[in-house]
Amino acid sequence: MNKETKKNTEDFRDHIATVTEEGKRIWVYPKKPKGRYHRARAIVAAILLAILFFTPLIKVNGHPIMLLDILSRKFILFGIALGPQDFHLIVIFIIMLVIFVFLFTVVWGRLWCGWTCPQTIFMEMLFRKVEYLIEGDAHQQRALNRAPWTPKKIFKKVLKHSIFAVMAFLIANALLAWVIGIDALKELASRPISEVPGKFTAMVIFTGVIYFFYAYFREQVCTLICPYGRLQGVMLDQNSIVIAYDYKRGEPRAKLGKNRDSQAGDCIDCRQCVDVCPTGIDIRNGTQLECVNCTACIDACDAVMDKVKKPRGLIRFASKEEIETGKRKIFTPKAIGYSVVLTLLLSLFIFLLATRSDFELSIVRTAGLLAQEQPGNKISNLYDVKIINKTFKEMPAELKLLDIPGEIRIVSGDLLVKPSDIAEAKALVILPKDQIKSISMPIRIEVSANGKVLDVMKTNFLGKVAGKRR
Ligand code: SF4
Ligand code: SF4
Repeated sequence: MNKETKKNTEDFRDHIATVTEEGKRIWVYPKKPKGRYHRARAIVAAILLAILFFTPLIKVNGHPIMLLDILSRKFILFGIALGPQDFHLIVIFIIMLVIFVFLFTVVWGRLWCGWTCPQTIFMEMLFRKVEYLIEGDAHQQRALNRAPWTPKKIFKKVLKHSIFAVMAFLIANALLAWVIGIDALKELASRPISEVPGKFTAMVIFTGVIYFFYAYFREQVCTLICPYGRLQGVMLDQNSIVIAYDYKRGEPRAKLGKNRDSQAGDCIDCRQCVDVCPTGIDIRNGTQLECVNCTACIDACDAVMDKVKKPRGLIRFASKEEIETGKRKIFTPKAIGYSVVLTLLLSLFIFLLATRSDFELSIVRTAGLLAQEQPGNKISNLYDVKIINKTFKEMPAELKLLDIPGEIRIVSGDLLVKPSDIAEAKALVILPKDQIKSISMPIRIEVSANGKVLDVMKTNFLGKVAGKRR
């Protein structure tokens, strides 16, 4: 621990742990974490990384199982295609995600940050691992950075940053595959750069941003940029489970040795919990904005407790209330409220998804137009026809007049609806005059495609011809 960081921990309430009073960045060299929580996090991270990299390769009936094409407003969730017309479902899904994260935060603190946030997973499970592999543990990294630029140091730095750049490029491509689909990504990659200069530049910038975040900006994303981190103060309460230091058991802290008081608490002030912290804080000062719940301090302290033959859990998952009173209370009114809202939204989402049809139809008389005389003693009305195809198949729609002799003629547009697309057309409904019984009479139009009736639409037919009285 350097002088700056030591000073920083003593006035931790005044500024964040990785910035000096003068506003300079304090580079954090966290010790390599190890222990049962780290192993569990590594397993969770491996599963999530596999989902990130392999999901775009999974197809259902030739289409991606998941696609989040924000630019074209086309989404596929678990094989179900959602288009702009399903915007309400997408909004509900996003609200549900937000409430889910809020609920989790109320009950489990920042568990999201430490275990599932892409920032933490990429940083701690990919980039930091490569750094440990090439530059060694914290003290070796610190020594390397202070050392003069020898060929060995240049080699290590070039190797590390080259691997960082490759990883940033792979992550950028994986994220892009979620947005445009793996086929479009392959197609893009197979074309010469001169044909897609804009897209190539966008990819270089995106890769550069990812590289910058993990090579240099690191924990600053969590403490300075991430809005979720900054909302902790309003979401957490005394019953939220956080990474907590049991000050009742640990204080007064005292180093091991002959001067250690018999009244001393279990904390031996070894600072192992501080040395492993990737955000540079001392959790013994209490819950802080910077803590991303990475559990490294729990593992470090448990290892110390094992060595000094004290029970594990001096630092553990616990609420402030639990540390103070020894009682854990998860189901607080706030948590119950969030759970009810989340259950309702989830039920609504499942209901809407389950009852969602593969198409949407609308046939309405063109506004402001009266009936038109047609040869052969007939009258016509003009209709706007709109068909939304939510399937992955082409839909050649046909219209048929029911209950009454007459004719439907498409006068503009096309009723051949492409997959996940919308077709719009103008159609004339032409009826013999002797079939018109009233000024506005109901008619029914059957819409079918591929020999299957999709729906029967009800509309009305205006019997009044422009400029004529009946
Ligand atoms: S690792 Fe445990 S014993 Fe060591 S300083 Fe931290 S809390 Fe105290
Ligand atoms: S205080 Fe502990 S859990 Fe929080 S970021 Fe630091 S090491 Fe991770």
